[in-house]
Order: sequence, then C-alpha cells, then structure tokens
Amino acid sequence: MESTDCASLANQWQRITSEALFHDTLLNYWRVKVPEIFKSGELDNKQENENLKKNLLQPLEWFICNGEPSQMFQQLKQKSNPPQMCGKVFKSGESIYSCRECAMDPTCCLCVTCFQNSRHKNHRYRMTSSNGGGYCDCGDAEAWKKDVACDLHKLHSSLPNQDPLERLPLDMQQYTRALFSIIFRYCYNVLTMEVEGSIPEQWKHEKLEENFCTMLFNDEVHTYEQVIDTLKKAVSCSEKEAIGYATKVDREGRSQVRLGNQDKCQKAKLIIIKNTAKTGSKPLKVSVMHYALVAHQTFALRLLEWLAEIIAISDGLRVILCQVALEPIDDDQSVTEKLILVDTKLWKGARIGWHQLFMGSLLMDLEYKKRLAALFTKHYREAQFDFIKDDHDHNVSIVSLSVQMYTVPSVARYLVAEHHLIKKIVDTFFDYCSQKHVKDGKLNFERGSNAGLRRLLYSITDLKYVLTCKPEEWSEPMKNGVIEGLESMLKLMQLIQGMNSVSRQTDHHIEIEPEWETAFHIQTRLEPCITLLLDWIGSDQSLLIRAFRIVMLKLRYVITTRKEVKMENKQVSGHNVLCIEYDISTQPVSIHIPITRFLAGLYIHLGKYNLNYYKEGLLPMGSLNPMELMEGPLRIQVLKAQCQVGLWRRNGYALLNQLYNYNSVRFQNETYDKDIIMLQTCAAVLPPDHFLIAVLNRFDLIQCMDTQYDTCALSADDVQARQRNVTLLKEFLELLIIILCERYVVGVGEISDTDRIKREVIHQLCISPMTHSEINKSLPEDAQEETGAEDVVNLVGVFKKSGTTGKGIYELNENCLTSYNQYFYHYTRADKSRSEEHQRKARKNHKSIEVAAMVPPLPPTLCHNYSNMCRILECDIFVHILNTTIARTATSKFWSENSTHKALYLTGLALLEEERLHRESKSFQFSAKASEGNPSLEQNLQSLVGNQRIDVYKDLLEWVLKKFSEVSKLKGNLGTELPLEPKSMDDSKEEEEKKTKAELAQERRKRIMAQMSDMQRSFIKKNPSLFEDTNPLDSRKSSTTSMDVDVSDGPLSYAIALGSEQTLIPVREPSKVTCMLCQEEEKISDDAPIMVLTACIQRSSVLSSTRGKKIADKDSFDPLLKSADRYWGTHVSSCGHVMHARCWQIYTDSLVAKENKRPVRFRNHLSFDLSKNEFLCPLCETVGNTVITLLPDLLPVEKSKKQCDVSVEHMLSLIRDVLREDMELKEEAEITMDTATLSDETPAKQKKDDYKKPFVGKSNIGKSTISSEVWRLLSFNQQTNAKYSLKPHLPVDRTEMLKTFSMSIYTVGLNVMPDDSNSRIPIMCWEAVAYTIQTAELYLRVEEKPLFCSLSSRQADCVNALVRLGAEGITVYNHQHVRKQLLRLLNVLIPISVETSGCSILDVDMFTLLVSVCFSMPVLKEAGGKDELWSANLCADPITNKHIMTLALLAHVTQILLTCDLPEDAGSPVTEDMDDMYCREANCLQKVLRDLYIMAGVKRNVPSAFDLWSHVTTSCLQFLRCSALFFNSLAGVPFPAELRNIVFDEFGVLCRYLAVPANLASLFDSQLIPGVHTFLQIWCSHLVTQERLNHMETLLVRYPVQHNKLISLPYDYSDLMNQVASFVCPKSSGIQGESRAPAMCLVCGQVVCSQSYCCQTEVEEDTIGACMAHALQCSSGVGMYLRVRECQLLLVSSKTRGCFHSPPYLDDYGESDVGLRRGNPLRLCKDLYHKLYILWLQHGIPAEVAHKLEANSNLLHIDWQNL
Ligand SMILES: [Zn+2]
Ligand SMILES: [Zn+2]
Ligand SMILES: [Zn+2]
Ligand SMILES: [Zn+2]
Ligand SMILES: [Zn+2]
Ligand SMILES: [Zn+2]
Ligand SMILES: [Zn+2]
Repeated sequence: MESTDCASLANQWQRITSEALFHDTLLNYWRVKVPEIFKSGELDNKQENENLKKNLLQPLEWFICNGEPSQMFQQLKQKSNPPQMCGKVFKSGESIYSCRECAMDPTCCLCVTCFQNSRHKNHRYRMTSSNGGGYCDCGDAEAWKKDVACDLHKLHSSLPNQDPLERLPLDMQQYTRALFSIIFRYCYNVLTMEVEGSIPEQWKHEKLEENFCTMLFNDEVHTYEQVIDTLKKAVSCSEKEAIGYATKVDREGRSQVRLGNQDKCQKAKLIIIKNTAKTGSKPLKVSVMHYALVAHQTFALRLLEWLAEIIAISDGLRVILCQVALEPIDDDQSVTEKLILVDTKLWKGARIGWHQLFMGSLLMDLEYKKRLAALFTKHYREAQFDFIKDDHDHNVSIVSLSVQMYTVPSVARYLVAEHHLIKKIVDTFFDYCSQKHVKDGKLNFERGSNAGLRRLLYSITDLKYVLTCKPEEWSEPMKNGVIEGLESMLKLMQLIQGMNSVSRQTDHHIEIEPEWETAFHIQTRLEPCITLLLDWIGSDQSLLIRAFRIVMLKLRYVITTRKEVKMENKQVSGHNVLCIEYDISTQPVSIHIPITRFLAGLYIHLGKYNLNYYKEGLLPMGSLNPMELMEGPLRIQVLKAQCQVGLWRRNGYALLNQLYNYNSVRFQNETYDKDIIMLQTCAAVLPPDHFLIAVLNRFDLIQCMDTQYDTCALSADDVQARQRNVTLLKEFLELLIIILCERYVVGVGEISDTDRIKREVIHQLCISPMTHSEINKSLPEDAQEETGAEDVVNLVGVFKKSGTTGKGIYELNENCLTSYNQYFYHYTRADKSRSEEHQRKARKNHKSIEVAAMVPPLPPTLCHNYSNMCRILECDIFVHILNTTIARTATSKFWSENSTHKALYLTGLALLEEERLHRESKSFQFSAKASEGNPSLEQNLQSLVGNQRIDVYKDLLEWVLKKFSEVSKLKGNLGTELPLEPKSMDDSKEEEEKKTKAELAQERRKRIMAQMSDMQRSFIKKNPSLFEDTNPLDSRKSSTTSMDVDVSDGPLSYAIALGSEQTLIPVREPSKVTCMLCQEEEKISDDAPIMVLTACIQRSSVLSSTRGKKIADKDSFDPLLKSADRYWGTHVSSCGHVMHARCWQIYTDSLVAKENKRPVRFRNHLSFDLSKNEFLCPLCETVGNTVITLLPDLLPVEKSKKQCDVSVEHMLSLIRDVLREDMELKEEAEITMDTATLSDETPAKQKKDDYKKPFVGKSNIGKSTISSEVWRLLSFNQQTNAKYSLKPHLPVDRTEMLKTFSMSIYTVGLNVMPDDSNSRIPIMCWEAVAYTIQTAELYLRVEEKPLFCSLSSRQADCVNALVRLGAEGITVYNHQHVRKQLLRLLNVLIPISVETSGCSILDVDMFTLLVSVCFSMPVLKEAGGKDELWSANLCADPITNKHIMTLALLAHVTQILLTCDLPEDAGSPVTEDMDDMYCREANCLQKVLRDLYIMAGVKRNVPSAFDLWSHVTTSCLQFLRCSALFFNSLAGVPFPAELRNIVFDEFGVLCRYLAVPANLASLFDSQLIPGVHTFLQIWCSHLVTQERLNHMETLLVRYPVQHNKLISLPYDYSDLMNQVASFVCPKSSGIQGESRAPAMCLVCGQVVCSQSYCCQTEVEEDTIGACMAHALQCSSGVGMYLRVRECQLLLVSSKTRGCFHSPPYLDDYGESDVGLRRGNPLRLCKDLYHKLYILWLQHGIPAEVAHKLEANSNLLHIDWQNL
C-alpha cells in the first residue's frame, strides 16, 4: 500500500462521524486484512512484517496525525515534555544500579545511562544484573532522597508545567482517543478469547480458509526434555525443530506446533495430551485454534507494541492512553481493571505485552499510577488467589507489578489511608491460611502441600514494600489504616502463636520428624514487616498507646483462653514468691510467640514518651502481669538449656533445627532478641528477688540453691539428676549474664544504633579475622538490605590486604580487645569456643590484667525504663546464687569449672556496676551484701586463691578480688588486702608447665611423623601439602639436571653450547630420584629400575596465530613441515613427580580395577577420563595421561684438540650428494610416491616396504657409502670415556616405554587411533618437544624472567626429560621413515633445486624444523660395523648441530627479512650514533634484502638500514631463546651466567652460546656458508613464496610473532555487562531471543549462548552446549569463559568436564562476587587476570579442573557438557 493509499484510507476514516460506525469500519477492515497478512496465524517472515506495517499500522498513524506521520511525530516530540522519569524497561542481563546512600529502598534502580550521568556514581552503589522487567526510576522524586534525576533527565524538568494535552491539536486528540479506545477493546477481546476449533462469528468472512493449528502452551511442570520428546512423537518433527518449538513455548508462552486441517491438528493435540499425562501430572495445555484467531492475536500483540511506541513520542498521547485505559467500558469496569482479573488466563507473551504497556503509560505518571494502584488494591485478593492457582513465574504475573506501586511512598500512604492496603494484604494471607492450614486455632502444615502458600508469600513482600517508607506526619485516616492493619496482623499472629509446639519424648524416639520449615519461611518474609511496623507505630505517641493496648489485650486473650494459669508458692533463702506452675519437661513448648515479641518490640518505644508498665492509664483493664508476660520467652530459654543437657534427645532433628534457626542471624532480630528484651522488661518491672526466683523455678533449680543440697545421702538417680543440674546451672547463669549485659538495643541501653553494630562487628572479629563479606554475612540485614557494617568496620578493625590478588581481611583493632564479652548472646557454641581460643592466644602476653583475664566489659548505662534491672545485681537472691556457686567450687562433687567462671564474671559485673553508680552518687549494695554472712561471698572468693580447680581462671579471680577491694575502698570500708600468691611459687609452676607442654608437643610431633610416613607408604594422599613439607627437595631436585647444577661452579660466562669450542662439562654422577609411591630412592641409570615422570599431553592452540584454523583431515594430515602460524601443536606438561614405572603400572591398574567395580551409571563421575588413559598424579592429583621415562644423561663430549672441525662446506656438499642421490633413485625406481605427501602410503604398503628394507640403508649401496663417509668425517667423539662409551641398545622395556610414550603423543596430538607403523609417530614427538620449548620460552618472556634458571623445576624437568627422550628416538624409530622425513626437511633447509624444495620457506616454523633435523640427523650415519651401535649421543654431536643451527638461523633471518613490513627508507643516512661495525652490518642487511626482493620479484623499496638491522636482531630473539633452551637440555652445557638476569645484550650472549655469528649479515656471506646464494635463489623463486610476498597476504606470518593474549577486559565490570546485555542468541531471533547465560570466551572474545537448548550442537555423537562446542573450535577443547551474568569464570577441559573458578573482578575489599549477590562495584584485577593468562599459557586448565573436581565431588554431578 502506497502512502497515498494510507492517506486516503485515513481520510475515509476521519470522515466517519459516529464513533460506533468508526468502530465497525475499522474492525471490518481488520477482519479481512489480518488473516490475509498472517497466513499461518503467527508472524513468520520479513514480508509479513512489511505488509503488517504498510497495511495495518501506517494507516493508523496517518489517521491520528491527519497527514504525514513522520513530520508530525517529529514536531510532537519537540514540543513534548519528556516524562519526568526515564522509565527505560530493563532487558534481562542489563546492569542496573542502586544507590545505597540515596535510594528510598533497594528496589529503586537506575539504568546504565542514567547512572553514568548521575551523582550516584560517586556514592556507594550496588550493581546487579536485571532479570528483565522493571524500569529505571531516574527522575522519580519518590525513589531518591537526593539527586533525583540524572543530568539527562534534569535538563527537561525545567520546562513549563503545562497540561500535556494542550500541546496536541484538537483533532488529533479526538482521533487518538477514538482509535485508542477501539484498539484497547479489540486487543482485550482478541487476547482473552479462548475458542477451540471454529472461529467466532464476528471474525468470520467468506474468504477465510478452513485452516487450523495446534497450539502448545507452556507450564512450569514439564521439563524441556519431556516437551521435546512428546513433540517428536506428536508432530513427527526433527529434534532440532522440537527444540525450536520448546524454546519458543518457553520464551513466549506458546507456539504453533502443527498447521493443517482440523483432524490433523486434533490428532496431534490428543497425542500430546496422552503423552504428557503419563507421568501422572497435569497434561500440557494444548488447543486446536483457527488460524484467523491466531492471526488476530498476533496482530493484537503488535498493536500493543505499536501503542507503546506511539505514546513514547509525546506526553499528550500518553495521557490520552492513560485515560482510555482507565475509562469504563461495559459493566463499569475499565479494560485495565478487567485485565487485572484475567491476567492468569493469558499466555506469557500476551501478559508481557500488557504489562509493558502499563509500565510505559499508567506507571509513568504519579496521578495515573495512583489510580492504577487503587484498582490493583481493590482486586488484590482476587489477583493473588489467581496467581496461586497459576503456574507461571512470579515475574510474568500481574501481581509482580506491585513493586512499581507499593514502593512509591506517596502511593503507599494514600492506599493505606484510603484503601485499607495493609489490612487487604494481611487479610488475603490470613484468609488463604485459615481456609487451608489451620488446626486447633493454629497454623499447621504438612509436608508437600504448601506450594500455594509459597506463592502467596510474595504478598508479604508487598507488605514490606508498603512499610518501607515511614511517614513523617500522621493523619487520622493514616493512623486508622495502620491500626486496622495491626488488628489483621494480630489475627494472623494468633494463628502463629504457639504453633508447632513440642512435648518432650520420654520413652522412645520420635517416629516422624514434624514439619517445621514452613513456619520459618513465613517468618523470613514476615520479619522485616514486623520490624518496620514496630518502627511506624513507635514514631507516634497516640498510635503507640493504641497499639500497645490492643496487643496486650490480644495476648491476654490468647493466653487465657488456651490454658488456665495456676500459681504455686516457691521459697529461696527466705524469700517467698508466687510462681506460675508449669513443667517444661512434661508440658508442650512452642518457639513461635510473635504476639509476645511484638509487645516487647512496642515496649522499648515507650520510654521515648515517658511511658512504662506502671504508668497510669496505659494498661487496659485486666492486663497480663509481668510473671505471665515473661513466661513464653522464659520457657524457650529453658527448652534450649534442657536440650543442651540432653533431655530432648529423643525429639529428633526437627527441634534442633528450629532452635538453630531461632538463634540464627537470619531470624534472631524478631525471635531471640525480642525474647531477651521481654525478659529484661520483666526484670525491670518485677522486684529483683521475685524475678530471680521465677527464673530459677522455671529452670527447676530452686532445690539446687539449697545450701544443704549436696551434703545429704544420695541415690544413683539423684546423682544423675544432680549432675544434670550442674549443667542446667551453667545455662541459668549464662542467661543471667545475657539479661544483664545485653543492653545494646536502642530503648534498653543508652546507646545509638551505630554502637550496636560496632559491638556486633567487634565480636565477629574476636572469633577470627574476616573478609568484608564474611562480616556482613554474620550480621542481620535491615529492610534496606544493609547491615551497617561498612560504616563502623574501620573504627573497630584494621584492613589488611594480602598482596594485590589476595583477599583483604579485617583484624580486630587492638583497643577494642576490652569490649570482648565471651558470653555475647549472638555467639553460637562454636563461635564461643573459637573466639575464646583465638582471644586466649591473642592476649597471652598482654601486660594489662583486664585484657589478659578477659574480664567483663562494663555494659552501657540502662535507659530509665530499664534502670531497675541492675537492682538484680545487688539483691539477696543474686548474692545467694553467687555465694552458693563459689562455695561449691572448693568442695562439692556437683560442680563445674564453667559455673564458677560465670559466677566470677557476674561478680565482676556487679562490682563494675557498683563502681559506676558510686561515681554517679547512687547507692548500690552489692559489695556490702557480698561481705555479709558466714562465710561471705568475699571470703569464699578469697579461699579460692591458689585452688587448682580454677587454675585456668586465676587471672579473672585475681582481678575480681582487686576490683572488690577497690570498690570497698571507694565506699570507705577497707577491704581486706589481697593475698597475692608468692611470686616464686608462681615461677616454678610456670616452668613446670612449660616443661610438660614441651613434652606434650614432642610427643605430638612424633605421632604426626609416624602418621605421615604411614600416609606416604599408603598410596593415596589425604593431604598432599604435608608430604611436600617432609621432602620438599627429593622429588624435585632429584630429576633436575643441568639447569641448576653448575650455578656454583665458577665463572661460566663464556659457556658455549655448540661447535668445536663447546664448553667442557664434567661427567656427572647419575642423578637420584625418589619414587613418590614406594619412597625408594633410585639412580637414573641403565641398570636401575625404570623411573618415570607423570605427564600430560594436550593438543594446543595457545601459540596459534590463526585462531580457529584446524587440522582438516587428521588421518591424512602431514605434520612434518610445521606451519609457521603454529595453528596446531602438542604440548607436554608435568607436575614433576617421579615414580617407578612398575609402581605406576600397579597404581593405574588399581584405578582401572576400581572403576570397573563401579556401577556403569557412575562411571562418568570421575575427575579424569580413564578411557583416555587419564589418571591423577598420586601425590598432587594433577591430571596426567602418560609418563615420560627418565633416561641417564647423555655423555659429555670431550674436547679433543686433535679432532678435526668438519667445515660447513664439506658437510653441505655431502648432504647435497645424499639428496641428489635420493632424487635420482626415486626417478630410477619411478616411484610415483611423492615425498611431500605421506597420506597415500597405506599401512599395508609401508609394511611391504619395511619388509623389503629390513635394515637402514642396506638396501642401497650408493647411499650407504656416502653416509658412512659423512659420518667418518663428522666423527663423533665417542671414545672419551670408556665406561660410558659403548652404549648398548636401550634395555627392552625402556624401548617399550619409549614406544608407548611416542604413541601417546601421536594419538593425543592428532586425535587419532593408535597405529604402530605410522610414519608420523617420530614427527609428532619432535614437534611436541619443539612446541613445549616454545611455550616455555613464551612463558618466560611474558613473565619477563631471564632464560637462566627461571623455569620452575617441574617445567625444567619436563623439558629436559622430553629432549633427552627425543634424542633417544633414533634408537627405536623406523629408520626408513625417519630418513625419508629427514631428507624432506633438508630439502627445505639446504635446497638443491626449486623442484625438490618442498614447501615455501615462509610457511615453515624454523624452530620445529631445527629440532626435527637435530633428532633425525644420525640416520644418515651408516653403521660402520656390527660392534657400532646406535646411540642417542649421536644427536648431541656439537659440530653437526652447530652447522644445523647456523643454517636454520640463516633460513630464519631470511624469513624475517622477506616478511618485514617496515616503512620504506626515506633516504636518510644511517644514524651517526651507530658505530662503524653495526653500520656496515646494517648496510649489508639492507643490501641482502634488496637482492632478496629482486630474486622474489617483489617491487618494494627496502627500509632504512638501521630500522632493518634492529628489526632483524629483535625478531630472531624468540628463535634464539628457544634454540638455547633446546641445546641447553640436549648438550647439557649450562647457560652463561649473564642469562641469570635480564640482560641488555641478550642477543649477543645467545649468539655466543649457540656459536653463531652475532653479525647476522655475515650469514649471507658465502665465506661462511658456501653456496648461500643458491639457497636464497631457490627459496625466493618458490612460487608460493613469490605469491605470498607480492600480495602481502594476511596469511603471512611476520616476525617477531606476536604472542596470544587473553582478550582485554574493561576495567569496570558493569561495562562488560552492558556490552553483553545486547547479545542475543545467534539461533533465535526477535525480542525474545535473549540468551540466559551468555558466556564470553576469554581467548578470542566471542560470546556464546551457554546452558541453553537452543545452542546445543552435536559433536561425535554427544550433544554439547555452546561453551563446549566453542572450546573445540577455538582452542582444542580447552576453554576459559566469563559467565557474564553471574560474574563467574568457567574452565573447560574436555567435552564433559569443567569447573567454576573465581573471576578476575574484585570489589574494593579484594573479594569477588559470584552471582553479583552483594552488588559492590567490581573492577578488573590485573594481577588475577594475568594469573589466569599464565594458567592458560602453561596449559594448566585440565589440571585445575581435575583439582577442583577432586576437591569438591558435588561438582562432578553438574552436567558440564550442557554448558
Ligand atoms: Zn534511566
Ligand atoms: Zn535519567
Ligand atoms: Zn546516591
Ligand atoms: Zn616405587
Ligand atoms: Zn604430581
Ligand atoms: Zn574463543
Ligand atoms: Zn541460544
């Protein structure tokens, strides 16, 4: 439809005058057009989308604009007052920010743009990733305390405040209103229509076809697998299609799975229902729909999107939409209201469409938000009940919109005052519970039937939102709203009060553990609401009084109606008190007493208004007396005590779990803490003696306080009961300490909230130093999700950062030591003993006795309402209790050390209190009463001095007595002098103590030693670190060869590794190693048992410079001439641990046997893969898949003056002869076999060849003569040391070991099946040696370490052993193969003609070639006689190697020259600061390059001489360093001492060491290398070379080769999150295409859609997730990913194995935040990231994965392959 058509259509509509007529016209138009456009019902392709826009949407735009829309919209936009709020709706995965200083509540958040432009970025903020839904609150004055709008949104708020409608033309208003209204009704009707089969009458028209579809809807019951399986059966689609449907169903809520006639669709439906009902659950929802209906629904969804776009243009349009949305249609309800009620009937996509439209319209404007909120509140109960029955996630339900309304303070207050919001919410919850879960007037739950309740708990969170912002002013309706809410709340609490009560099991153990968790689930949600409600009520006097009386009456009602209260008389020490009769060991107790606790919470507010329990007029008639009030909390304390004693052992775990939660950080604030407050309240209002007797009575300890208690005769039962009472007494005293000391509650003690938090933090740090997050975890969070620790922690702790990468920890500030109270009430038992131990150690040598004795700290002054509480400390009963306890210390058998300590502690406390009150001139009688009686407390205390029984507490006793006399002095009565223990006695005692301690320690050490050797002997290791401590050197140093042997051997600065000048090295004794399994020590020699080094072979792409390039066909691949871009490679690593070959065999056999015994389904659950020959090093658990045989050192070559130095010239000519002859031979034999391709050699053919030529060279006379001539001349110096000279073949089993090792490299390196006769085996071994050395060199370079001695011993051991083994290859490999390969290598290095030179010199990795040639060169040797044997020493010939090295360097420098890419010479003369020599050299190089260009036909100008010279010398360093490492291992000549440090002239030193000219230009001089020009000519005239050079292809490898790094990550983590937030799953499309777990490959930076069905692929018959698949593609199956949404690192080591690792992002406290739970800003830690890089570089990922899996077996059960 052209725009003219649009215009005319719009015009036509505009001319219609009646709204009804317009409605019919439009609908008629849609009735025809919509099914025409959406042929299959759903939006299928681009074309349909185009048609939709042209035919359906654009006419609407023309209509409302009355003309060309784009222009009009532009104008509107300019005039429009942009919304005061940003309102950006969050995509999932997007980062969102909340300011911890300014946000009204934690749900207020900003989008990244607003955040970046706001002040908050300099505040303390939280960052997290969105789950989708919700919008940016920027600009909402009610969301922020300050800095309400960001700079972007602030700009606009200055525009004049004008009615937005005024800016719209009148006709537009009219058209828009009419259109919106029709659309709203249309969308509502269409989307809520549930018609099976036929199409409703009003949508019919004659052109409609009879097409149907089977529509599948999602539910949260069936799994992905079930859905996929069912679909495959029902609509016989492929797995891939089924996954597509399932994904769509999951994302959008429904999907068409079949199109066709009604029967076909019906059939599919039935199969789906039948299949999914099988499991006994509800079947999947599926219906057969007419395609036209689906088409209308699709269109309706698009209309909603369109509306959202349109109203974003102008605030005027938005206002019209809001009005339309709230305008009543039929039966007085608006569409919005109706939608609240039908939400759960819609499928997911339709719901989201509506919700998002609401967010963009009604919720963007305070006025409409209020109106929507009122509607929402009106139907709150219905919506919640619908939600319970529904099975969709909370965030796709309309009830989740509550957070957008109830968190807005003005809206919440309006609703509380006008719409009974609090009552509404609580009643909804109450009604549901009382319908379903009430028994005997209390809540009662059974296991497995609480799903609905769990969904309903969201409503309690709504209540929290409402209560988050306390009103500053109270209106009468507001107060009423709160009071009616409180009354509802009390109704609910009544159901909770006393629930899950327990009675002690006396005869047998409880049979079924009762359900107890649900009560705590409710508590979790309810707790913040209660805290907030208390805060609300406490802020207004009249409200507080009203509430206090209501709660008091409610409590009385509950207590008195449930059980009659009986009283009994109790007497202690002459005091008589009426106590409540109750026996906890026989009668039920409940730990749920919310009403009592609520009352306690209100009571602490009374003080503010000078109100208290006895205040006239406060208490209603018939209030409970304090004895009754304290009963509930007291019973719980006694229950706890009795549990400690073991009286409740038969009640099982349910009780223990409840008590655990009761005390836990999560719940304590509204449980335990409030109970203590209630007890303190009663302690303050009751006469002190009465209080104490009541408590004693409840503990059943009245008798125990009788002075005659333990003197009368006792039966056995009595003894047991008394012993129990000893423990109960301990608990009683502890409760007393808690009641008296715990005054850190605002309203109880004169403190601020900061003081309270400070004290909490101090006590946490007393347990041990902690990280920031550990401290936070140990403290309760408030409604703002803050603990407050951050503000105080620096006052009481000292922050220490261990290194830059380690966690930062806080240690307790020294001057806080005196605040430590070991009976701190939030300590668990474990905390208590850990803190005691830690403090004892920390204070051991402290001078101050207060600190050393850990005396009680002076508690804060009590508030007025509680001041009477300290009268307990001077009352008769208190002194009596202390005196009795102390007196028993000396004599009684029913005594405990701990009770005495607590009695001393309490005495100290009383004295401290007396001291303070004396200062305030208030009277206090404790010291007076304590000196009364016979014996008095004071006398009893003094008699304890020197008593062995309390030896541990003698410091405390000393301090108490000191304090006593101080206080007595203050009071004027001279206390008795303190009898100090004689000093001498003290000393001798101490010495004795020391002695015993030393003895004990020695014994312990002995025991540990014995244990350790036991452990070593038994194969497997519980504690590897212990082992390493015992013999740190043995296993390491032992196998280390040359590298650190000669450090002390005088100056070696002129060491030379090659040539006739080779530095002499002494013959070494065979090194010794210890088997880590049997602990035997062995020499490495031919006649000793074979020793092996554990090793791990991996395919690697770490050095690749063309990432993603892979070996195309592994079976025909020719690995000989290693490609210069090193795109493949084989790496060998080792943990450095040595074993007997025999022991290793036994060990691996046992592993296999063990595995075979396991059931098949557990087979895979190992941290290593036995099928790949993997095992774990028995000592350090590093994963390995082979072992390297350790071989004796090669013979040092003695320098003999007589020995003739064979010239290069001679060698070259001989080699040329060999090559030529080889060529001629080939021609003769007309062998078609091309040397360049090995692939066509079938194994069978090879065997035949082998058969024909059983011995090397024997088959051909000519060859043999030349060979022998060569070797005569290149005479090896084997005659030096008779003892070693004639080496036999390797002993047979060594040969076998070597063959096995080579085979492992071959099979792993190429990922092929073993094949004994394959000619590629030797090549792979040489390559592995070269690759491993290259990696080691790179590691040193990256770490900026010198070449010398910088490899870790295990790296050095590994390299040495590998090189040694490489040399040994000559004795075992098939010489036929080796010779053939050598000739091909030489054809590149020493080319004799272009035709034979094989591949282009530019394509060869020269170092690999060098290594291969050195290892294979000896095959050219003709065995002269039968007595002459093959020996690895042949490979170490210094003369041959020097020549090879020189030639290889020549070739490499040529590579560098040819590929250099420097700016061309500007003609400036060579700079003068170069001296002559370099000048000449540089000019020579320039000339060489010019010649090369000519030879290669390159038309380029050469760069300046100096540039070129410095480029070449730096570029060949990598090659030289690798070569030095190689020859160092091979020849055993130590590195020159200079290389111990990073040297300035590394180049020069290396050249000298390798005996190559430092003047690189001289390489091109035919004086040095005869015929060099021919070489150059041949190299340059190679076709490929020329082509590469002339096109300067990107394929070209340039030098120095840039090493791979991990990708660079942004410093701020949120940048990374936002970068990845826009990532969509590559296999899905559209708005729903977001990926749930995007993971970023740190090697190449690609983001993949991990852990999701959509992106699974099949590899070698396994279905694997995107991470695994990418790892195979990107880096040989080993991968490192950052899971961006979780901020978690994923390491992947094979298709089925991986582990999580901490990410390189840390917060200011040096901690990572996996899952972004804490939300602190995270920044990249460079050092950590570098460590990860090194881990990758050193191929350490498989080892790390195995370690992690081994350490945590739970990880084995994760399906890594799906990630
Ligand atoms: Zn924003
Ligand atoms: Zn903003
Ligand atoms: Zn802020
Ligand atoms: Zn052994
Ligand atoms: Zn190991
Ligand atoms: Zn990658
Ligand atoms: Zn995907």
